[in-house]
Amino acid sequence: MELKLPGEPNVAEPGADAPRGLRARGEDRVSPMMAQYLEIKAGHPDGLLFYRMGDFYELFFQDAEIASRALGIVLTKRGKHLDRDIPMCGVPVERAEEYLHRLIALGHRVAVCEQLEDPAEARRRGGKSVVRRDVVRLVTPGTLTEDSLLDARRNNYLAAIARARSSSAEEESRFAIAFLDISTGEFRVTECGRETLAAEIARLEPGEILLSDALYEDAELASFWRSLPAVTPLTRDAFDGGSAERRLAEYFAVATTQAFGTFSRLELTAAAACVTYLERTQRGEKPLLSPPARESGGATLLIDAATRANLELVRTSSGERRGSLLSAIDRTVTAAGSRLLAQRLAAPLTAPAAIGERFDSVAALVAAAGIRSELIARLKAAPDLARALARLVVGRGGPRDLAAVRDGLMAAAEIAGACRALDPCPAEIAAAAAALQAPDPASAAALAAALADELPGFKRDGGFIRAGYRAGLDETRALRDESRRVLAVLQARYAEDTGIRTLKIRHNHVLGYFIEAAAQHGEKLLAEPFKARFIHRQTLAGQIRFTTNELGDLESKIASAADRALALELEIFDQLSDLVIASGAAIQAAAQALAAIDVVAGLASLAVEQDYVRPEILADLDFVVEGGRHPVVEQALVRGGGPFVANDCDLSPPAGAGAGRIWLLTGPNMAGKSTFLRQNALIAVLAQMGSFVPARRARIGVIDRLFSRVGAADDLARGRSTFMVEMVETAAILNQASPRSLVILDEIGRGTATFDGLSIAWATIEHLHEENRCRALFATHFHELTGLSAKLPRLFNATVRVKEWQNEVVFLHEVVPGAADRSYGIQVAKLAGLPSAVIERAKLVLAELEAQDRISPARKLVDDLPLFASVRRGGTAPPSPRENAAEALLAAIAALDPDELSPRDALEALYALKRAAAKRE
Ligand code: ADP
Ligand code: MG
Repeated sequence: MELKLPGEPNVAEPGADAPRGLRARGEDRVSPMMAQYLEIKAGHPDGLLFYRMGDFYELFFQDAEIASRALGIVLTKRGKHLDRDIPMCGVPVERAEEYLHRLIALGHRVAVCEQLEDPAEARRRGGKSVVRRDVVRLVTPGTLTEDSLLDARRNNYLAAIARARSSSAEEESRFAIAFLDISTGEFRVTECGRETLAAEIARLEPGEILLSDALYEDAELASFWRSLPAVTPLTRDAFDGGSAERRLAEYFAVATTQAFGTFSRLELTAAAACVTYLERTQRGEKPLLSPPARESGGATLLIDAATRANLELVRTSSGERRGSLLSAIDRTVTAAGSRLLAQRLAAPLTAPAAIGERFDSVAALVAAAGIRSELIARLKAAPDLARALARLVVGRGGPRDLAAVRDGLMAAAEIAGACRALDPCPAEIAAAAAALQAPDPASAAALAAALADELPGFKRDGGFIRAGYRAGLDETRALRDESRRVLAVLQARYAEDTGIRTLKIRHNHVLGYFIEAAAQHGEKLLAEPFKARFIHRQTLAGQIRFTTNELGDLESKIASAADRALALELEIFDQLSDLVIASGAAIQAAAQALAAIDVVAGLASLAVEQDYVRPEILADLDFVVEGGRHPVVEQALVRGGGPFVANDCDLSPPAGAGAGRIWLLTGPNMAGKSTFLRQNALIAVLAQMGSFVPARRARIGVIDRLFSRVGAADDLARGRSTFMVEMVETAAILNQASPRSLVILDEIGRGTATFDGLSIAWATIEHLHEENRCRALFATHFHELTGLSAKLPRLFNATVRVKEWQNEVVFLHEVVPGAADRSYGIQVAKLAGLPSAVIERAKLVLAELEAQDRISPARKLVDDLPLFASVRRGGTAPPSPRENAAEALLAAIAALDPDELSPRDALEALYALKRAAAKRE
């Protein structure tokens, strides 16, 4: 209380103890408290400082202005600093998490400054002494542990990116990305090049990215970093390669990191930056991390950010989980399982053997329905073990976290038993079962014996240790409860003695226990005979408050008993917590194993429920999907009662060809082109992440990179026009796709004039066919392109069937070989309800245009244009007549010598140039 001023929002008792400290309104002298505040704030200039004062965290100056605006809380004033009012706002400690959540979501960082001693101790040091305070933690987006600050179903990664500049111009820079989730302990590191950097970041979606100052300001990358949420630049020392290995080894308390595997210096640098940042933000608490594990390059299917967004893998284009592929396939029942599923979906594998192992697990649980449902039932009862453990490790845990470990460990033992019933037991499940049995069962038993049935949210609330667990605790509790009973007796006696039936004994933090009566009884109690017994403490508007010697004695008895009981409970809490932390690594591994079983059981349920099949993943370049369905559209259609029409797709290399096919898909709007394109991409993603797929049969030669683009998707937020976005993204594909890639292009070239668009689409197909040689699906409304299949041996035409019936189109959603005869645009427009006058007029215009035959020139082009490849093979293309003329013009200008020319000759020369230029047009 010592620092509160009357009239401020957080003053508990008006007129209580005279406030000390910042009384100096209007004085320009800095109060001791303000001096302390300013000193602490100076150490944390780039975040908001939550300064603990009693039951509130207070913010001052600019911090207060920012927070009051961000949180919509009242901005008040508190005293003066250098003759100016000090703006202030505060949040109550018990609601701090909620406010933190909002500030972090808005991209702020918060330094939490606590009182490190009891205010009474400070008072004992003398009137002017300020309570000792310091920052105990920096809350940043990538270092959260609280459930209320985290999405239970997503990992929250802290990533650090280090760069090694190339020594020569041709060589690319290399990057290392280290990433960890302190709420689960995962810690991994990987290397990549400049061109795959963005795709790797898109896969991880880190909550916070650490960079060196220099990399943050890098000319080429600066705008990319600024397009990402929550990037934190750090001074050079955090990214110092020389000390990286030592810092990392120190964090894990090992002599050398070699025991964890071999890492490049770059990887060590990134990993060390992560742990150094953890040490800085956690202030002495060390989150439990698994040793860094190396992800080898190329182990996962690369999918860039645009493709992820376009395929709506983990969220829809409007940002929701609902409607995404993840939400359509998620049958997990635990938060950790859901997180792992999202991780696997974000990073499908590329090694057929590893993918095959995952299929084996799913297949085993598809076959064993009984074991599957037993596992699911047991998983449902399992809490979020990893996150509870993480909180205990950094000293932020509560009684419910201990209970979560207890329940998690018990569930783990039972689940391991159920897994072992599988015969044969696939490798992945057997490994998980072994991890589930690793933690010492004694820990769970100890927790079960100690914890009460009903648990409070915070350990400071007490009452979480079971009666009978420790004799000493039971005794002090009895004493405390007995005193409380005595208090009730006392109140009854005072009421009777004074004849004031409404008299109450109450408690607050300022007065402690006191006797309270309505104001009208004041006179009676202040007079004889009660005067001698009832000592006046406080008069409020409606009440008057007293104490007695008796009450004072009782109070100190109660307080000391309660204090002793709580102290004992906290001691037991620490013992239990230490017990858990001692087997932390084993518990973490068990938590991961639970997640893995949940994912497998979920995928098996999905396969059974949705009738998915086990695909074949091979090392060749095949791509055969028979009876494929779109996993999201199918579920939506079925909910609406409609059937989904299954379709085949074959992009395998034709006999004798060394590269896969390109399908050119035409058909009217609304026929199902986009759905077909995406379903094949999604089937590939599902297969490589280890899931069964919505098809009758699928054979896929492993894909290294997946690209998907749609024409005409606006990106106004980033200030690029539709067409520009489309071209930037198409450029990325043409530059990066390999023969092992799968490319989906949907209506490219739509965002510009017809002939422009047609030309670009045309050249793009040729490039894919001749240069990238990848498997591709290309949907287009340019029917002219279908002629290309005559020239390009691996290009095949396909179309989505429609039926014309009584002048209306009927969509059959059936993909068949061949080209669409026409667009049916007018019929679709009619379905959409365009006025019939407009429809009739459009038909007339179309008939006229068709009479002029817009198609034949393009047909001719196919025959006349030299093939793309021949253009390319000639090295630089032969100069066109236009370019020849330009050359001549330049030569003529170069030949002129102005100093030698008479004014008249100069005029002549100018005319001659002008004529030559006119010819060039
Ligand atoms: P397009 O790209 O050819 O304009 P879409 O792929 O957007 O067409 O599909 C239009 C609608 O048709 C979808 O919203 C979906 O409801 C339905 N549809 C598409 N494919 C199928 C299918 N195979 N079976 C059933 N309905 C489908
Ligand atoms: Mg479409």
